Amino acid sequence: MPSGPSASADDANAGGLTAFRGEILDFIGDPATLGDAAHRHFPDGVLVVRDGRVAALGPAASTLSALPAGATVIDYRGKLILPGFVDTHVHFAQTDVIASYGAQLLEWLERYTFPAEARFADPGHAHEVAEFFIAELLRNGTTTAMVFATTHVSSVDAIFEAARVRAMRLIAGKVLMDRNVPETVRDTADSGFADSKALIGKWHGRDRLGYAVTPRFAPTSTERQLELCGRLLDEHPGVFLQSHVAENRGEVAWVAELFPWSRSYLDVYDHYGLLRERSVFAHCIHLDPTDRQRMAATGAAMSFCATSNLFLGSGLFDAKAAHEAGVRVGLGTDVGGGTSLSMLRTLDESYKVCQLAGQSLSPLRSFYLATLGGAAALYLDDRIGNFDVGREADFVVLDPGSTPLMARRMARAERLEERLFAFMILGDDRAVHATHILGTRAHVRDGT
Ligand SMILES: [Zn+2]
Repeated sequence: MPSGPSASADDANAGGLTAFRGEILDFIGDPATLGDAAHRHFPDGVLVVRDGRVAALGPAASTLSALPAGATVIDYRGKLILPGFVDTHVHFAQTDVIASYGAQLLEWLERYTFPAEARFADPGHAHEVAEFFIAELLRNGTTTAMVFATTHVSSVDAIFEAARVRAMRLIAGKVLMDRNVPETVRDTADSGFADSKALIGKWHGRDRLGYAVTPRFAPTSTERQLELCGRLLDEHPGVFLQSHVAENRGEVAWVAELFPWSRSYLDVYDHYGLLRERSVFAHCIHLDPTDRQRMAATGAAMSFCATSNLFLGSGLFDAKAAHEAGVRVGLGTDVGGGTSLSMLRTLDESYKVCQLAGQSLSPLRSFYLATLGGAAALYLDDRIGNFDVGREADFVVLDPGSTPLMARRMARAERLEERLFAFMILGDDRAVHATHILGTRAHVRDGT
C-alpha cells in the first residue's frame, strides 16, 4: 500500500487504517438547541478510518503525529469533509417522472406517478432504474436514504440489491395500496401483508439494510390494510415505517371523507398504531399543535421536503413549530415530486420555504439537518451522522471551487457559516468532489 500525503483516494480501498486530511465539520447535536456547542470544526483536520469505522478525529498537527508509521494519508486539503448526507424521503421509482409539468398532488399521482410505477412489475426495468438512482445518490453525496419502492416485490429487491453491492446503509419498502389506485399498482390487504413479511425476512438487518413498512398514504389503503401495517410493526421490532401525511389541502379533505371518525389526518395513522419510533412521515405541512404533540410523544419523525412542496404547490413546512414541539425532523428530496436529488439544492429551497414562513434556517442548522438530524430522524444516529469514534465512516467531500461563481463567492467568505451558506445556495452535484462509503471512495466527480 502506498503511503504519505500524496497517496490517492483509491488507496483507501486497501483496507486497514486510512487518514483523510482536510477541513472537517460535523455535529454532536442540534444547533437550534445547543448553539455553537453543537458542531465540531477543524480548519485543518484529520479523520482516521479503520475497517470502515471512525478511529479518530482531530486537528492535523496532533492526529497525524499519532498515526502509526506507514499509514495512508489522503489529502483533501482545500475541501470540506462532512458526514454523508441523509435523505429521509425519496421514491426511486419516480426517477423518470422528475420535472413533469403542471399538476398538484392528487392529479400528479394519477397522471405521472402511477403509470411510471406500473412499469416496475418488470424486474429488468426495476434493476436498471435502481442502479441509476443509487449512482445519482452517491454523485450527490447522499450515503443513506429512506426509499419508497413500488407495489411490486421485484422493485424492492432491485433497490436493496443495488445498495447492498455498494455497502450502503439504506432503508426501503414495498408500497402498500389496496384501493383508489389503478389495478396495475394495486395489491390487497392480505397480499401486501404477506409480501411485506417475506421482504422483511429477506432484507431487514442484512448487511446495512433496513426494511420499512410502506403504506403510500391513508387514501390508498383500506382500514384493514392500515391495521395490518400495525401488526407488521408489532411482529417485527426494529422495522421502520414510512408514509405521507398532510401534504396538500385536497388530500387532507379526502382523508376526512374516507375516515369520518378521525380527529385529523395524522389521527388515522395514530389509530392504527403507526406513530412510533422509526416511523417517518413526509411533508407534515397541514398539521395542528395536537398532531405535532402526538408525533413528539410517540417518537415519530417528520421529513421536510422543500423542493417537492414548492414544486407541487403544497404549502410551507413549519420548521419552528416542529422544533418547538420537540419532533425529530430530517430532510427529504421526495423525487419525483421533488426537483433534485441534491441535498444542497434541497437546503437552498428549505431556506426559502422558511423565509416565506417568516423563519430563518441557519447554515449550521441546515447542515445538521442534512446529516446528524436526518440520522436521528431514522434512529440511526448511533451508527451514522457524525464522526464520533466507532461510527460508520460514510462521508462527503465538498469542493468550494466547483464553479467559477462559487469559487468567487467563497474567496470573499471569511467565516465557516458564510462558506456553508454559499455551498447550500450555489451548490449542486458539481460541488460534491467525492463520496465515501465505510471509508472507501464510492464516487469521485468526473472520475478524476
Ligand atoms: Zn413522497
